[in-house]
Amino acid sequence: MRVLVVEDERKVASFVARSLREKAWAVDVAGTGRQALELAQAAEYDLILLDLRLPDRDGLEVCRELRERGLETPILMLTARGLVDERVQGLDAGADDYLVKPFALAELHARIRALGRRGLNRGVVLRFADLTLDRRRRTVERAGERLTLTQKEFALLEFLLVRAPETVPRSEIVEHVWDSSFDSESNLVEVYMNRLRQKLDHGRAVKLLHTVRGVGYRLGLDS
Ligand code: CA
Repeated sequence: MRVLVVEDERKVASFVARSLREKAWAVDVAGTGRQALELAQAAEYDLILLDLRLPDRDGLEVCRELRERGLETPILMLTARGLVDERVQGLDAGADDYLVKPFALAELHARIRALGRRGLNRGVVLRFADLTLDRRRRTVERAGERLTLTQKEFALLEFLLVRAPETVPRSEIVEHVWDSSFDSESNLVEVYMNRLRQKLDHGRAVKLLHTVRGVGYRLGLDS
């Protein structure tokens, strides 16, 4: 999942970004409303975390503009305590949910998971053949056997599972699993996919992870 954090308070932004990256989400940060609109135009996010108090533009305006452009990405707004009006206006402007500042990280993560699921339209547990991924417990099993994945491997597998059995283009994997610091010339996707393949398929009769040459990757039961 790739998240855009729109927050001008640097401390809050970096604290939130760090905590999301630890959960294997790819994160970009915008410090102004203008930058948020630019980034949301340039990349495809799975979720936008939007602070309503921005230095240049009202967060409500940003929210409204994103919706007017036809963007359907879930938006979680951050609002000040006690301002019921602001929350109502935010929801009316097209936000999906809100979180009152200051908030606990655990609550932020739970809200993001819930909205992310809505966006990706799938449940807590994703399954394909004998493979199971639990988004809440962050566990992966194949044929009942627990696999130990790194955060990035988990994020890659989650993205492939959501789309299975479709072939997922490499460019979309980069877009949703890495942040804007990704060097498009690098072979990181291939490196991580090879590691993931080792863990999923090594020594097994049925291989699940397939490379579609020149296109991307897919989960499938055929060879
Ligand atoms: Ca702010």
